[in-house]
Amino acid sequence: MRIIDGIYQLLTPFPQFTIEDAKALRRELQEHPRVTKGLPYVLPYLIKDGGDVVLVDCGWNTDSAYRALEEGMREHGSHPSEIQRLIITHIHPDHYGMAGRLKQLSSCDVAVHEKDAEVIATRYFAPRALTEEMQRFMELNGVPPSSTPQMSQGSIGMLSNVAAVPPDTELKGGEAFKVGDFDFEVIWTPGHSPGHICLYEPNRKILLTGDHILPTITPNVSIHAQTHGSPLGDYMRSLEALVDLDVRLVLPAHEFEITDLKKRIREIKDHHELRLEEMLACVDRGGSTAWEVAGRVKWATGKLEDFEPWMQRAAVGETLAHLEYLFELGRVAKVMRSGKLYWLPV
Ligand SMILES: [Zn+2]
Ligand SMILES: [Zn+2]
Repeated sequence: MRIIDGIYQLLTPFPQFTIEDAKALRRELQEHPRVTKGLPYVLPYLIKDGGDVVLVDCGWNTDSAYRALEEGMREHGSHPSEIQRLIITHIHPDHYGMAGRLKQLSSCDVAVHEKDAEVIATRYFAPRALTEEMQRFMELNGVPPSSTPQMSQGSIGMLSNVAAVPPDTELKGGEAFKVGDFDFEVIWTPGHSPGHICLYEPNRKILLTGDHILPTITPNVSIHAQTHGSPLGDYMRSLEALVDLDVRLVLPAHEFEITDLKKRIREIKDHHELRLEEMLACVDRGGSTAWEVAGRVKWATGKLEDFEPWMQRAAVGETLAHLEYLFELGRVAKVMRSGKLYWLPV
């Protein structure tokens, strides 16, 4: 789909969706936004101007996602073999999964933020060690021993749909680059992923937001075994960093494009502030583990004990991100008791 001359929105389906179903949902969601069971698609952006061909994000490494990308590029007079540069907003498999295949086809320069580049190796090339680390992490956070093995295994299955490749260029944020007549700026927006980036084009007032800002979904901001610091604190600061940008069109990597950036930032911040209070209310005076808090707090998708293991893991991770941010704000303390981490209100 043409956004403006030179910027085109493509669509690649998630593995469990056909191209046709994903496209139908794309049209439906824009008119009637609603929560779907799992994400149906990713929206890569093709920037093609003055002989330059840049792709932002790609999709899972499945044949149907590749076919969708090829068709989409062909509609706008291009082909995956012509990609000169592939910029990845963050290395989650739905954005980065096809990078290896595209690199092989086009020898493109693959650009990833250095903070995400750091975790490519442990996440995609040697994931077994991560599984063990994850198991210890689950125990630390109060997950009962009967649940830890399945929860630690959670995402090993998705690796078959990822063709990982080390980046050629590591970004830091602040870089400026030209694509034909467009002037882009890289903005580092950690939170959803430590090396998440947005791309800003000030002349056209366009902002590509990856998963950082989505129209109706709030991206998962989570703590897991490899996390350092406070991702939710980072995320809230990354939202604040965009609020004064002059933007008339927001191009996200899921759902559909929106126009009112400031309003959406306000909504997302309000959501997390409410969530922080809810989480805090679920912490016992005598101390609670993240698993206990996650079991008490309300989830839109049901009860923690009924979740699939990977969803339980995401729920614990999201709970921890909120607890860590409450800690950063001085509203909870943490203490170790017989190998488990407990959170206490202060
Ligand atoms: Zn993501
Ligand atoms: Zn995503």
